[in-house]
Amino acid sequence: MQLLDGKKISEEILSEISDEVKHIAARGGKIPHLAAIIVGNDGASETYVNNKIKSCERVGFRSTHIKLDANISEEELVQEIESINNNPDIDGLIVQLPLPQHISTEKITQLIRPEKDVDGFHPVNVGRLALGLPAYISATPNGIIEMLRRYKIPTEGKHCVVLGRSNIVGSPISILMAKNSYPGNCTVTLCHSKTQNLSEFTQQADILIVAIGKAEFIGADMVKKGAVVIDVGIHRIPDDSRKNGYRLVGDVKFEEVASKASYITPVPGGVGLMTIASLLTNTLKASKKEVYFKPGFFS
Ligand code: NAP
Repeated sequence: MQLLDGKKISEEILSEISDEVKHIAARGGKIPHLAAIIVGNDGASETYVNNKIKSCERVGFRSTHIKLDANISEEELVQEIESINNNPDIDGLIVQLPLPQHISTEKITQLIRPEKDVDGFHPVNVGRLALGLPAYISATPNGIIEMLRRYKIPTEGKHCVVLGRSNIVGSPISILMAKNSYPGNCTVTLCHSKTQNLSEFTQQADILIVAIGKAEFIGADMVKKGAVVIDVGIHRIPDDSRKNGYRLVGDVKFEEVASKASYITPVPGGVGLMTIASLLTNTLKASKKEVYFKPGFFS
């Protein structure tokens, strides 16, 4: 068994981005600039946004961190987004989710211009992904694809079984794994909570991608010998033996499945670490106008 090491790969990607930013700076080019909006004081959301901003600094990007009061009206948030949409100096914009209940996540997601939507949540980016057109792909599926690519995992003709059909993980990764290019060309089966006899499908998987949000749900008896196992889940389990009182686990029983798998992602240290690297990659592409033909193409 070999680990698919998210720490190592994400460090590699950050270092490549940092080198590219140095070259851009040396020739007087535009330094990529990410804006992050956070509404309210949710602790986990603050940590996520702070990590994204720190990573921007680390690779030499410019960043703008906008903290808004939890009671801000939807209209005020709309104005803030419009102003960033129209600011040519800002290449990428993310709005940290979840938003307070009185603000429509759907409305806000659709307001961000597709060419600045480096989270890849806008319907235009999701639609372009489905059509196989250049698009900003959301961080987690993008991170999984990049891991498979960098570890040169063969995918063509393999049976990829995806557990979970969420808009941010299961559905997009199932589309990407079926794409007519590498990593892809798999025969894909997408399972969800209404799937009957789940084990029958998981046991057939050459590549098993698990994103169901159920701690240590997948045991060795559900996995084929030699399978590549990607564990997207992340859960805090109370653990008195730890100083912080918890340990992190995935949707997969790591120890027993690792002994059967050819490759497996650990939790922590696997898919999760790839997400910031994906966000920065998308921001660099946005600043180079790589995804769309020209800025404002869709406006
Ligand atoms: P989600 O929106 O809750 O979706 C879960 C999916 O799993 C749903 O499609 C659900 O089916 C399916 N499901 C639930 N129980 C199942 C079962 N027993 N058998 C088969 N399918 C089942 O979750 P998500 O946002 O995709 O996230 C999944 C997990 O990944 C969570 O633990 C989350 O914290 C983690 N996550 C990690 C990262 C990272 O960066 N590492 C990023 C995103 C998410 P239905 O559609 O029928 O309800």
